[in-house]
Amino acid sequence: MIDESRVGLAAGVAAEVVLDEVRQLRAGDRPTHGGRLFAYVYDPAVPGLDELAGAAHRESAHVNGLDPTAFPSLLAMENALVGAASRVLGAGPGTTAPDVVGSVTSGGTESLILAVKTARDAHPEIAAPRIVVPSSAHAAFAKAAHYLRVAMDVVPVSLDTLRPDPAAMAAAIGPETVLVACSAPSYAHGVVDPVAEIAAAAAAAGVRCHVDACFGGWTLPYLRRLGEPVPAFDFAVPGVTSISVDLHKYAYAPKGVSVLLHRDASLRSPQYFAYADWPGYTMINPVIASTRSGGPIAAAYATVRHLGDDGYLRLATVTRDAVAGLAEAVRAVDGLRLMAEPESTVVCFTATEGGPDLFVLVDELTARGWHTQPQLSYAGLPASVHLTVTASVAPRVGDFGPDLADAVAAARAAGPVQLPGELAALVGALTPDALTPELVEGLAAGLGMGGEPGGAPLPERMAVVNTLLDAAPPALRERLLVEFVGLLQRPTW
Ligand SMILES: *Cc1c(COP(=O)(O)O)cnc(C)c1O
Repeated sequence: MIDESRVGLAAGVAAEVVLDEVRQLRAGDRPTHGGRLFAYVYDPAVPGLDELAGAAHRESAHVNGLDPTAFPSLLAMENALVGAASRVLGAGPGTTAPDVVGSVTSGGTESLILAVKTARDAHPEIAAPRIVVPSSAHAAFAKAAHYLRVAMDVVPVSLDTLRPDPAAMAAAIGPETVLVACSAPSYAHGVVDPVAEIAAAAAAAGVRCHVDACFGGWTLPYLRRLGEPVPAFDFAVPGVTSISVDLHKYAYAPKGVSVLLHRDASLRSPQYFAYADWPGYTMINPVIASTRSGGPIAAAYATVRHLGDDGYLRLATVTRDAVAGLAEAVRAVDGLRLMAEPESTVVCFTATEGGPDLFVLVDELTARGWHTQPQLSYAGLPASVHLTVTASVAPRVGDFGPDLADAVAAARAAGPVQLPGELAALVGALTPDALTPELVEGLAAGLGMGGEPGGAPLPERMAVVNTLLDAAPPALRERLLVEFVGLLQRPTW
């Protein structure tokens, strides 16, 4: 006998009750609107845009991108998005890259995985393929290399300019290199790599060059039009063979849409996966997913069409001014310095000698309603605070300066985090392999992580956690965070 009480879900719940549950859960999230969140969310603060994107999403949510012949609406919208991205990035009719093609993916990570896969599969004769990336390249390249079993040659960036030396990039190219990559700009610091020199070196070696413009691909061209000194980074640069740009970043589309462009169709060809050797439908996938919702694609289409060239230019103007205002606020505070002069839409700062503890400062800013992103120290680079600046921040910039000064004063008064002696000793002695479930649970509990089911999973103040992670080498950071997040991701019954 099956015990009926032990199988299946709870009984159905009325629509308004469920929706209310969702809203109550959402209330515990960081605010996605209001211009006080400097990571994860890209908000143009354009009235009506959410409603438009939501309505477009609803129209196409159940449409399946698996078969573009069954759902030509998606094919049309994808082609329009690829065309728009090409235009923004210096390709298309009348340019030096008239034969550009592309695909719509689910995000920057998928675009980068596919760029690496395509480069790898273009060279089946290379048994142990490698890619060359600067140390500032997005972690998604490491994920791609890991998933695809491609080795990664990492060229350190200058601690000064935060850019790789093109000569060092060139020197790292070997007979097994299938791809050279660089960023426009890097996520962490917002600096644009020397794309022209790197692409020239790649071309000279007969190797593909990918420009990761996931973050800045939709803003740098507009900033250039506004007169900012943006270096060449797009298809106008000879040797650039592919570019990625995330529409769910500065094209301000809802999550789930990025575009991967190739200079021509022959370069894209190895990206496809086709399989006819089974009894079902012949599968032909340009991207990783097979079944794909039309929702994000339709939402991105509506967003790009509605904002248009004039809209993006206006949003870039507003954002540029917000960046300048925030950078000025950082300069005005004793104890902080910019990691780099802003050249895109990132403001990144660190503490000077004798300055405040940055992790305490981040908590003080959170307490004042500003959600910033701490970055751990790495390979000679100090810990820093990252601000992704979007148009919605502009009306808040005047409030940021005084709050920053206030938060710095509070952080100074509180003093730096002192890790309890046993924690510091533990992290010093721990190796990733030595972590046991008991040790992890003890650590998590000691750090106040986990919380109540349905409640906030992290303590309100994160400085101790960040200090602990900062003291650990990268491999231990990875293991600790995998274990911590694994503790959070447990089913509820
Ligand atoms: C965000 C980002 C990515 C990864 O994109 P996801 O959409 O988060 O997968 C890759 N590269 C850069 C430069 C980025 O800013």
